[in-house]
Amino acid sequence: MFFCFFHIIMLGDIMLKLKKIKKSYVTGSFTQHALKGIDLEFRQNEFVAILGASGSGKTTLLNIIGGLDNYDSGDLVINGKSTKKFKSSEWDAYRNNSVGFIFQSYNLIGHISILDNVEMGLTLSGVKGRKRKKKALELLKKVGLKDHSHKKPNQLSGGQMQRVAIARALANDPDILLCDEPTGALDTKTSKQIMDLIKEISKDKLVIMVTHNPDLANEYATRIVEMKDGEITSDSNPLKTQKEKENFKLNKTSMSFLTALKLSFNNIKTKKGRTALTAFASSIGIIGIALILSLSNGFKVEVDTFEQNSLAQSPIVISKAAIQMDESTLKKINGDKDLKKYPSTKKVYALDDVIDTVTHTNNFNDDYMKYLDKIDKGKLSGLTYDKGTSLNIVRKDDDEYSKIDMPLGDVSQTRQLWTLMPSNPNKDKEGVIDLNYDVLAGSLSDDKPGLILQVNSKNQLYSSTLKQLGFEGENVSFEDIMNKEYKVVLNDDYYMNIHGNFVPSDDFEKMYNSENSITIKVEAIIRGKDGKEMVTNGNGIGYNNALIDKVISINKESDVVKAQKDSDYNILTHMPFDENTTKDMMMGYLGADSYPVAIYIYPKDFDTKDYVTDYLDKYNKGKDEEDTVQYTDTAKMISSLTGGIMDAITIVLIAFSSISLVVSSIMIGIITYISVLERIKEIGILRALGARKKDIKRVFNAETFIIGILSGLLGIGIAYLLNFPINSIIEDLSGLSNVAKLNPMHALILIATSMTLTIIGGAIPAGIASRKDPVDALRDE
Ligand code: ADP
Ligand code: MG
Repeated sequence: MFFCFFHIIMLGDIMLKLKKIKKSYVTGSFTQHALKGIDLEFRQNEFVAILGASGSGKTTLLNIIGGLDNYDSGDLVINGKSTKKFKSSEWDAYRNNSVGFIFQSYNLIGHISILDNVEMGLTLSGVKGRKRKKKALELLKKVGLKDHSHKKPNQLSGGQMQRVAIARALANDPDILLCDEPTGALDTKTSKQIMDLIKEISKDKLVIMVTHNPDLANEYATRIVEMKDGEITSDSNPLKTQKEKENFKLNKTSMSFLTALKLSFNNIKTKKGRTALTAFASSIGIIGIALILSLSNGFKVEVDTFEQNSLAQSPIVISKAAIQMDESTLKKINGDKDLKKYPSTKKVYALDDVIDTVTHTNNFNDDYMKYLDKIDKGKLSGLTYDKGTSLNIVRKDDDEYSKIDMPLGDVSQTRQLWTLMPSNPNKDKEGVIDLNYDVLAGSLSDDKPGLILQVNSKNQLYSSTLKQLGFEGENVSFEDIMNKEYKVVLNDDYYMNIHGNFVPSDDFEKMYNSENSITIKVEAIIRGKDGKEMVTNGNGIGYNNALIDKVISINKESDVVKAQKDSDYNILTHMPFDENTTKDMMMGYLGADSYPVAIYIYPKDFDTKDYVTDYLDKYNKGKDEEDTVQYTDTAKMISSLTGGIMDAITIVLIAFSSISLVVSSIMIGIITYISVLERIKEIGILRALGARKKDIKRVFNAETFIIGILSGLLGIGIAYLLNFPINSIIEDLSGLSNVAKLNPMHALILIATSMTLTIIGGAIPAGIASRKDPVDALRDE
């Protein structure tokens, strides 16, 4: 990086040469010829006063010399180089390195300190940090303001402000100092001080001063050029044209984004209230979206945990009557909306019986059983074939014998009932019970026939259940429960054959003491794991497959089963079979080797669940509807319903909130435009100091950038805080705690979105600002 300042190297006398410069202004149909072909040359070192009445074109001439304004025709030759083909970046560099401006109205930037004002030109030419500050302080010392460096311009007198302007003009060691009525706004005494300062500077520079005061010109200038109506009328010390020799070099200027940020930040500080309101207003969209995202996010997490829990616990069920809940059946339930199919209002149309189409009767056969047996059991955590086999259990309390009154087990029913527990198909891995339950006492075994007791999270069991097991009172020790023996009575002891009629016996003592009866105990007491309460919060008695298998292995040869096999009537009731009670079901109930009533398949996780459903679907491929075997996937039914609704609601709400984001970016555009209008003067000053159009754009982009970050942070912050009351309301209503949670990733994306939108909103006004003509901008009051 080069920090040296551009110097026009001394070569002969000539440094500035104006050749037939013309400039006119067109306002409406009127053309004002401000300069009518000016020929003028300046020496490297002289104090030139341009004297003329108001409106004679002095300022126009000075602005053209300083590169602030463009000439219409002619040429301005700087050290031998024509400026006809100058690019705007060259003009910017020229203004920055070679020219210092001093204006009648000082033109200091009001919202930064005078030190920063002096530093600005240095900043633009890339002078860094301490070096820049040192130089600026030196200059302030030179103009006698060292002790005031931290004041803002409006804390100074006119004379002091003009001194700051002089210090600023000298910052980049320019070769040319251009002064436009520098004392026009000052009293006589101060004027003299300022003029002395300029005279001092003119010792080694070219000073061109515009004035309408002949006394000043006569007292200080070494050369007086008089103007009238855009023409030079006299020149006290013209020079003879010498040979031009090109020797020209410029140091390009640029403003870093950090400088732009600092400028805008200081500016924003002067209007805190407005900035805060703007940021707040434009944060509302962000707040809305952040809240929606944190809610839907939280609900998704809840639903996912619920699904994960229910997935592990809610099996894929293949029962005799399967309920179909796919799209086509839902359509049937909701009714056909295609009215064209029902053209007449004077006819009655037949409607499909919904229940028939929703339920499907699965006819299990050997093919299907073999197919199921080949499923990859490594991908399952539990598997149960429920044949609906009844258990006849008797117990002995003191000297009393009684039969346990127990409803038919069914895993899909509530846990108060006796249920057949799923067995674990993989001995070396955890099964569905291990995954979801803590074993409080005893151990789980699929090989030893026995009972499993499930207590709820408070170790409770319904007293009716306790009573079934033969216990009364407030509480029972695990030991007592696990020591108690029960007898499973086999068919041949249980049913009496009275002339071909099978009737249950009630001699429980005999049954209990029969050596055929199977002795069982409670082998394990289990409780749903923490976090799995959603699906394990029941309590009740389970029995294992080992028990059922053992019972079936003996009962299938029993008299009652043999008799049922030969009879077409229900052997217990002597009624014919019907849909509700088939012969198959009766055989299963009595413990024959029959087809199951229901099959429960517990996949290990989400991925293996897909495997299971794919495997089951594959069986149905190419089969007629009535030969297919349908299954019910409760977890999927729940998740597809909740997931779809959640997504739809989220999208709709975000779309609504997005409107407020668009509104806020338009608002930012308007606010930035107002800011541009307010800062036009500053734009002119910066341009006079050599700032490029790009730099001006940067200043305003920096402003919207700051507002964008502010509103993004504010929005996220407010949304974060609002989540607390929202969560407590949700907890009151649903018992779910900490549902609304803002994903940090979403927060970052929203802040970035806010920044992007505000920058887009501010881009147009920033562009307008950068295209402002510097002369017009400076004239703005
Ligand atoms: P001086 O500085 O000598 O008072 P100026 O150079 O400011 O004179 O103006 C010269 C002439 O050009 C004046 O008649 C003025 O009205 C006109 N003029 C200057 N700038 C503009 C402009 N931007 N639009 C129209 N007329 C202008
Ligand atoms: Mg003027």
